[in-house]
Amino acid sequence: MALIVEQFTCRTDNFGVLIHDPASGLTAAIDAPEEAPIRARLAEKGWRLDQILVTHHHADHTEAILPLKASFGCTVTGPEGEAAKIPGIDGTVKGGDEFKFGAFDVRVIDTPGHTLGHISYWLPEAGVAFVGDTLFAMGCGRVIEGTPEMMWASLEKLAALPGETLIYCGHEYTEANARFALTVEPDNRDLVARSDEVRRLRAAGKATLPTTIDLEKRTNPFLRAREKSLRRDLGMEGAAPAAVFAEVRGRKDRFK
Ligand SMILES: [Zn+2]
Repeated sequence: MALIVEQFTCRTDNFGVLIHDPASGLTAAIDAPEEAPIRARLAEKGWRLDQILVTHHHADHTEAILPLKASFGCTVTGPEGEAAKIPGIDGTVKGGDEFKFGAFDVRVIDTPGHTLGHISYWLPEAGVAFVGDTLFAMGCGRVIEGTPEMMWASLEKLAALPGETLIYCGHEYTEANARFALTVEPDNRDLVARSDEVRRLRAAGKATLPTTIDLEKRTNPFLRAREKSLRRDLGMEGAAPAAVFAEVRGRKDRFK
């Protein structure tokens, strides 16, 4: 039986995500951004919360852990490198670790950069990955604790996942990301078409995620540091991909 993934808005622009394995009846939350919407979706589906899988320590991903744990007694799994910063954590995982969620394998990928211990969860049989604040639709997380080189290496790991993998991210930043991406690659036809689609979706109050690795490779300037046309546009044809990434990230940090 297929994995069920429920995505909904939390706080202002965070996503809450629940995954449910119908065969075992298990339910997990990916991060815990806000208690009320997570509870509401659990109640609507008739699920009880068994686990919380945490991507990184930021408050907008961990704030609801303790109240949810108090009512459901769920177990909390998070990155080894950030255990001390995650309230209520029961177990830790790191890149290369594998565990089971019901019938599904969960593979842990180290994706540092936004935070030093940030991890992503990939469920290959289900064809989904939960990447927290590492990769966004047409964007990527701010490099707050790590270095651009570190973030680029993390993005390359995600880019190596099967192209059709559905990517769930921590935030709905897509419309602003598209506006920036167009300043980097105004002639990228896939990007122009996607930006139009994103404007339509947002105007209708709809989410623009999940995305796929294939779509990001075609339209996300942060994943395209190896792309000839982008390197030429930036005047960085001879530069290392990590340096091209750093230039794009720097431009985004200054973008209004
Ligand atoms: Zn964050």
